[in-house]
Amino acid sequence: MTRLNENYLKLPGSYLFSEIAKRVAAFKEAHPGEQVISLGIGDVSRPLVPAVVAALHQASDEMGAAETFRGYGPEQGYLFLREAILKHDYLARGINLSADEIFVSDGAKSDVANFQELFARSSCVALQDPVYPVYLDTNVMAGRTGKFENGRFGGIIYLPCIEENGFIPQLPRERADMVYLCSPNNPTGAAMTRAELKKWVDWAAANGSIILYDSAYEAFITGADVPHSIYEIPGADKVAVEFRSFSKTAGFTGMRCAYTVVPKALCVYDETGAGHSLNALWLRRQTTKFNGVPYVIQRAAEAVFSPQGQAQIREVIAGYQQNARVILDALKQAGLTAFGGVNAPYIWLKTPKGLDSWAFFTKLLNEARVVGTPGVGFGACGEGYFRLTAFNTPQLTQASAHRIAGLKF
Ligand code: PLP
Repeated sequence: MTRLNENYLKLPGSYLFSEIAKRVAAFKEAHPGEQVISLGIGDVSRPLVPAVVAALHQASDEMGAAETFRGYGPEQGYLFLREAILKHDYLARGINLSADEIFVSDGAKSDVANFQELFARSSCVALQDPVYPVYLDTNVMAGRTGKFENGRFGGIIYLPCIEENGFIPQLPRERADMVYLCSPNNPTGAAMTRAELKKWVDWAAANGSIILYDSAYEAFITGADVPHSIYEIPGADKVAVEFRSFSKTAGFTGMRCAYTVVPKALCVYDETGAGHSLNALWLRRQTTKFNGVPYVIQRAAEAVFSPQGQAQIREVIAGYQQNARVILDALKQAGLTAFGGVNAPYIWLKTPKGLDSWAFFTKLLNEARVVGTPGVGFGACGEGYFRLTAFNTPQLTQASAHRIAGLKF
């Protein structure tokens, strides 16, 4: 008899998106011919920009010629891409890192999911509630939690992100070894200011904790006081790993390219108290378990940093930001209270009149034929909230906004 990893049995089924799909399918069957618009998707709708497509073509041609063909590349990513990332995302912001502190990967999802394996199983985890589920589920799989009871896993420090704290995680009373912070945030759309993030960096330094900082939505930041990288905060290189992605920045959700920064100053400790470089451990992990991102994809990612690439992706992002404004306006017209949408492509609305998240889902679907995501699906503190995204096309976003604006509560 082969035994399973029983931690997997602790996971509740991935109920949220399958339940949404089921309810939408039932609605469509009952209302044939009616157009249902989704503002629930976390995927992009605009195609790759021309500079990226040109780089893809050129790299494909190189792969077809004997002189320029490439096989396995460096597991950490080609130097041309790591240097482009370093120059544009870090050195240009006055952040001193080196190319060997950057690891190119096939997704921020895989990196945030995998990174926890470098830490002891006994490590204590803190994370935001509501939360991007990957942080939580991967720690459940690794055996760092107790059972799931009343919407919560035992052993996890939940950091409630609620209206009273502006959806910004507050420092916990207890010590944690690993803290996941996501800013700009999925699902709430809230973004931490420099002062708020500094509190966390100082807390981590004082407590010997490591911050796993997910800034997959960095490109959507508009506020001058919102840092684009945690390394803008002095001392962060000694306490934080940063995850970034080309997915939402440049429409790479189907291309798969991201990167993780692991500064050499970061240390973890063995039971004798001896320090070990987290950078060296992650390199060891990646060289053992990962064989790199395709050459053509890395050339395409490099093109994102060219002057044309930058101008083109900024225009695409501006389109999504405009969608967010359209949605926020419509919610206001309907008399609803909404948050986010300014530094992030996510809008987090408060359900009115004590409706719970799923009751609001039903009302929005039945009366506006618009689909969104019940906040409770992201954690207990998401109950009474609802997530809309700015990733649909301008036309469909306008059409759904028109319907939402006419809702009566
Ligand atoms: N991190 C957050 C907070 C996300 O919302 C997402 C995708 O929705 C990801 C990471 C995944 O990014 P990638 O496409 O690079 O795997």
